[in-house]
Amino acid sequence: MIGATTSGELRAHNRVRLLRAVHDCGATRTRSQLTRDLNLARGTASVLVAGLAEHELLHEAPAREHGRGRPTQVPGPHPRGPLALAVDVREDAWELAACELGGRTTVLGLQPHDGTPEGVLGPLGDAVAAHRRRLGHRVVGVGVALAGPVRHGGLVDIAHLGWRSVDVPRLLGTEAPIVGNDTAFAALAEARRGRLQGVRVGLHLHVDFDLGGVLVVEGRPLGGASGTGAEFGHMPLTGGDRTCPCGATGCWSMDVGANALLRHVGLAYGGGRGRVQAEEVLAGSEEAVAANARALGRGIAALVNAHDPEVVTLSGHGVELYGRAREALMESCVPGLMAIRREHPPRIEGSALGWRGALLGAMESVFDAFLTPEGLERWRENHPDQGRDTPERRNVTHSTLNGAKPL
Ligand SMILES: [Zn+2]
Repeated sequence: MIGATTSGELRAHNRVRLLRAVHDCGATRTRSQLTRDLNLARGTASVLVAGLAEHELLHEAPAREHGRGRPTQVPGPHPRGPLALAVDVREDAWELAACELGGRTTVLGLQPHDGTPEGVLGPLGDAVAAHRRRLGHRVVGVGVALAGPVRHGGLVDIAHLGWRSVDVPRLLGTEAPIVGNDTAFAALAEARRGRLQGVRVGLHLHVDFDLGGVLVVEGRPLGGASGTGAEFGHMPLTGGDRTCPCGATGCWSMDVGANALLRHVGLAYGGGRGRVQAEEVLAGSEEAVAANARALGRGIAALVNAHDPEVVTLSGHGVELYGRAREALMESCVPGLMAIRREHPPRIEGSALGWRGALLGAMESVFDAFLTPEGLERWRENHPDQGRDTPERRNVTHSTLNGAKPL
């Protein structure tokens, strides 16, 4: 039934299932709940948990609330257990975090950059290498989110910054990083721990300096043949005629996001600059916000007509646009819907993950690669070694991200 034929293979398979279940539930379910969820015998679960604790993969702690009798145990991350290093590279700054099994995230650094491939990826690669040395064998992979299309192998274009076919793994100098598009990663996180959980067909839109969008089917963002899906922002959905830095004309993303807000009030925009000013426009200019929201609504209608999603989720500035100008958004969205869609329009919801989606999606991609029989076998071979440090919790006082504090 599972392709595991020997008892060793079965044990390896069950170890992966248990760790996956602990990770996916955010380390909140008790051992007995997990035992039931996974349809394991109680004795089998005990042996599995003991083995995983011995290998410093899991650690059990008493549940916060329990009735009489022995306290219920909740399996969670081991204090010396595996860590995913996750990076969100935005157009103006990068944020680096260490993530434990279960999804708890500690911000390790946040640094503005000059927007050039070397200026972004050189210092970032140095920071990743320093944390890898400090944390040793605990680091099981590095996931990097970038604000542009990513081809298989890590070649990245970021039109706003003038990046063409930038070889991200080479410039980072990091061993086998998992490089992905920020919108696709935000959508993956939304499917795992946000509002796309359990949704069969969803549409996720991430708004930062411009807008990205991707269809999520059965929990998986559709990546396209070469990996460069998640580019709904570069479709002519709003009738504009401006030339987009991507090379196309009339792209939807020209009308939604920080650049569009800045342009609306006559401020300089582009090149990943002006975040603070854009946030001021978002907070203070109803007209600019309404224009953004109308463009967002019109594009959503077109994509809903095409894809019939159950729910449309918004992250980044999309949450604020929807919150501040929901009426303008819907007034422009509803007339664009086909009659058959209008009867049962999809829900539109702001992300529950705030600005952390891309970072969390980068983490998920690292743990997806680790939580396999091969990944756990590598952990066992490398274990234990000298790297016994734990990440320090640093206070991030100046953040371009809302909610950059540890989860
Ligand atoms: Zn474009």
